[in-house]
Amino acid sequence: MVKISEQDKIEAENLLEEASAVFDNCTKCGMCKDLCPSFKVLKDEAVGPRGHAIMLSDKIIDKVIYTCTLCQACERKCPLNIKLCDAVLKAREAFVLKGRKIPGSEEEKVSGNEEKGLKS
Ligand code: SF4
Ligand code: SF4
Repeated sequence: MVKISEQDKIEAENLLEEASAVFDNCTKCGMCKDLCPSFKVLKDEAVGPRGHAIMLSDKIIDKVIYTCTLCQACERKCPLNIKLCDAVLKAREAFVLKGRKIPGSEEEKVSGNEEKGLKS
């Protein structure tokens, strides 16, 4: 298992603070939701832009971190000019600094097997 340095932990927390701050002015109005391709396909409010706004405001990153395509459709619709993609990218960077593996990746499978004591 990779050991995470204190510096990386601090940097990750700073990035999550910055990601959360992107939504300080978001009213959670949902005007951006219908344009979101992730929401259209997955039919889950949590993966749409408003879901991102709510979760990243609370620094909950696991569920939404890799569902956003970074298409910026929600940003173009937002009347308050909320830069959601900036927040998602900062949260992804924090996710990596925290030593988390991309869900479904080979790296995650190997890491999961190691934790279970299995050989890959
Ligand atoms: S990002 Fe903009 S459009 Fe979307 S919920 Fe927040 S304020 Fe509304
Ligand atoms: S940038 Fe992400 S959250 Fe916004 S519309 Fe595109 S996929 Fe949805």
